[in-house]
Amino acid sequence: TTVLERIDPAVAQAIANENRRQRDSIVLIASENYASKAVLEAQAQLMNNKYAEGYPGRRYYGGCENVDVVETLAIDRVKELFGAQHANVQAHSGAQANMAAYFAVLETGDTVLGMQLDMGGHLTHGAGVNFSGNLYNFVPYGVDRDTETIDYDQVEQLAREHNPKLIVAGCSSYSRILDFPRFRAIADSVGAQLMVDMAHISGLIAGGAHPSPFPHAQIVTSTTQKTLRGPRGGMILADADLARKIDFAVFPYMQGGPFMHVIAAKAVCFGEALQPDFSRYAHQVVANAQALAQELSESGVRLVAGGTDNHLMLVDLTPLDITGRQAERALESVNIVANKNAIPYDQLPPRTASGLRLGTPAITSRGMGEDDTRQVARLIVRTLANIGDEAALSAIGEEVRHLGNRFPVPGLDEE
Ligand code: PLP
Repeated sequence: TTVLERIDPAVAQAIANENRRQRDSIVLIASENYASKAVLEAQAQLMNNKYAEGYPGRRYYGGCENVDVVETLAIDRVKELFGAQHANVQAHSGAQANMAAYFAVLETGDTVLGMQLDMGGHLTHGAGVNFSGNLYNFVPYGVDRDTETIDYDQVEQLAREHNPKLIVAGCSSYSRILDFPRFRAIADSVGAQLMVDMAHISGLIAGGAHPSPFPHAQIVTSTTQKTLRGPRGGMILADADLARKIDFAVFPYMQGGPFMHVIAAKAVCFGEALQPDFSRYAHQVVANAQALAQELSESGVRLVAGGTDNHLMLVDLTPLDITGRQAERALESVNIVANKNAIPYDQLPPRTASGLRLGTPAITSRGMGEDDTRQVARLIVRTLANIGDEAALSAIGEEVRHLGNRFPVPGLDEE
């Protein structure tokens, strides 16, 4: 028995169940991934205990010589990985990275262009229920009704009309390449700065499977837990002239002590992403997404924007006459984990939704290739065709468990 099993069996049991769930499931949540054992080990250690307010070499506490090493490694590695001039690796999450970025360059009430939530943007890009929509005057842009891709002409027109101080590019459920040079040209034409939130695609960018926001964006934010396959956390990259403002916005303005154990894990994650293997991973994520999209399309499933260039796709369930919520539940019952999602111009409320978001980062980390992914697509199609048929779903669930158990779980099965 482990110490945790002895001290707190209830928590230990829930963790054991979660390990089992992650092994048995096919995880298609586009924002999830399996971090490596090295990343997990770097987090589960005594740097958890250390207060280190400030930045490497400039701390408000003694005893920071070792945490300074890991934070400096994280900063140097992530700058190399993305070709950034400045990096702050202390933001506790993606939402906090965005908050600090806004604090660094905006005053309350400033006008910002951001992608509308139900078109693929994120809560922190100006949603009414989020601090961003409350503190700033966000003007939403969206996708074209026909192509379902970003309407850059609309972005340009809104920029001219509203004269924003900042334009935010980046999405949570958009399956096509983002045109960063176009965003920058629009920003420049109205004297705005460009911020790219690459949370979803940072791993693809690191691996060369999606164009980089550099040198186009002045500020780039990201989570570290999605395609980048690191610990849960945030980071902010920026041009050198914004360095002091960004660092001040994170500490002391927004946060207190940084999570030094998480920063150690970020350093490991960035180190892994610098290896040639990671580029192979990122390209395989995209190849798998294309295999999934192709197999689904050939089965008659409609994909928003006609398919995918990245790690995710949005299924429009309207022609199948099922809702996102029904699809999510049916898939969960067969151990395929995905999430319902609004589609552009959705007729249903977000809690029901007409779409299903599917992503390949997690299954690719478990070692699945295109053939395996096509099998996953067929299991999805069969599940959606058998909603309500308990016997059929139960048989599919067994097949899914079987498939899942063929692939090792990073973080658990690694030596
Ligand atoms: N930005 C984008 C584009 C996201 O998709 C997400 C994650 O959902 C975030 C920011 C927020 O990240 P976190 O959940 O770590 O706060």
